Amino acid sequence: MAFNRSIIWFRNNLRLQDNEALMEGVQKSRDYMLLYVFDERLWKETSIGMPSASQRKLNFLWQSVQKLKSNIEKRGGQMIIRKGDPAEIIKELVRHYNCDAVFAPKEVGVFEQNTDEIIEKLLSKKGIAFKQYAQSTLFHEDDIPWPIGKLPDIFTQFRKENEKQTQIRDLLPASEDLKMSIKFKERELSAEEIDINLMPTDQLVFEGGEEKAWERLNYYFWETDRLKTYKLTRNGMLGNDYSSRFSPWLALGCISAKSIFYEVKKYEKERIKNQSTYWLIFELMWRDYFHFVLKKYKQKLFQLNGIKEEKKDWSQDLHLFQKWAKGETGVAFIDANMRELNKTGFMSNRGRQIVASFLVHDLRLDWRMGAWYFEYALIDYDVANNWGNWAYIAGVGNDPRENRCFNILSQAKKYDPKGDFVRYWLPELENIEGFNIHRVSLLDQNEYQQMIKKTRADYFKPIVDLSKWEY
Ligand code: FAD
Repeated sequence: MAFNRSIIWFRNNLRLQDNEALMEGVQKSRDYMLLYVFDERLWKETSIGMPSASQRKLNFLWQSVQKLKSNIEKRGGQMIIRKGDPAEIIKELVRHYNCDAVFAPKEVGVFEQNTDEIIEKLLSKKGIAFKQYAQSTLFHEDDIPWPIGKLPDIFTQFRKENEKQTQIRDLLPASEDLKMSIKFKERELSAEEIDINLMPTDQLVFEGGEEKAWERLNYYFWETDRLKTYKLTRNGMLGNDYSSRFSPWLALGCISAKSIFYEVKKYEKERIKNQSTYWLIFELMWRDYFHFVLKKYKQKLFQLNGIKEEKKDWSQDLHLFQKWAKGETGVAFIDANMRELNKTGFMSNRGRQIVASFLVHDLRLDWRMGAWYFEYALIDYDVANNWGNWAYIAGVGNDPRENRCFNILSQAKKYDPKGDFVRYWLPELENIEGFNIHRVSLLDQNEYQQMIKKTRADYFKPIVDLSKWEY
């Protein structure tokens, strides 16, 4: 054994399968402590005056951690849960339990990397090993054809070169035996002590944990064959199955991107290989790309002028921002998407692009206000995917292409022509028929009065003039 007693620290790798940090830690240590730290930063306010994580997001995280804990216990192990500053907690535990190594995944977030630097310094002074594993992406960072500093600024180049050259590493077996010779005397923390208000399960659309991730995959691939038509449906908005909805589990690492990749390959062999099966992998490559972009540009991605260092006029009008965030803009398509986000912690990819374009190009708000709000509300919040996509839409990302500015009514015509999506999320407008639901404020007075009489409530006056989108 290389080490006598280690800490195996879980972060966004809340799973037993295909988990290098866990596997290596178990194989190389005589004893080990399995640890999860609820980072106190999740409760800290960001610049929009909201915590970094909504209670809904914390519920999903709590469930995922609890499922992992119970899986560990089933295999004879013990998982310690703490809340606080991870560097401080690791420092205390290493000293208290006399550990000689810490195993952990590498994270892409800037805060997380700063934490790692602190831990590295702290441990190396004491001669304690800090073993880190890059395991969140499909392509391993050491296998891509460029050093991170030379990563191409165009996604297509990244994708094509990787498709040609980069082998995806094999899956790692699940760690099945987690028996330990010692029992750590650590008190169990309740959700309440961690500051998580557990919500009734019927209010939660997604359930956390490794099993639930695989249940979703089995459903989407094998039981319903939805994968076969993914490319045709992926821009949908209403219902649960237009896209894979793997993102919440991927964000916390309840399932690895590699596991999904190899399952697609199996599906292609056993069922069908077509554009849809390829496209799911294509989207996972976007995920990889944003992770590497964050590694390359670090702090720059979070700055107002972005990677491009492009100066634009941005407003920080809190009133407009609140209207957007609450889904009270009076633009039905925007409001329906934001209500979905607020009620479920999820929004379709199409919806995200539309509400982001509206915030950036129509309200001309500081794009980071939108990114911070998504950080708070999305249960699939992934620092690289979120900030990368926002910067891209705001036109300050690394991609040289022009800003993505949408005509909201054209988007509505294409993706919600009968208004069913809006009708579902804005029941106060349910009696307005067909596409008119998207253009309530443009109806002539007579028409409007008649329609509005039929609805349950008056709708908000739009904060922008919708007529600019009519053609
Ligand atoms: P699918 O269409 O089934 O795709 C499969 C997987 O591919 C996703 O789970 C995701 O991991 C990856 N993927 C798909 N589209 C993208 C994309 N555009 N960029 C990066 N990866 C992608 N995704 C997050 O996981 N976390 C975020 O915080 C996040 N914030 C976003 C913010 C904005 C403004 C926008 C426009 C997009 C954001 N996305 C984010 C990307 C994308 O919208 C979601 O990954 C996707 O909607 C999740 O649904 P799905 O799992 O059904 O996706």
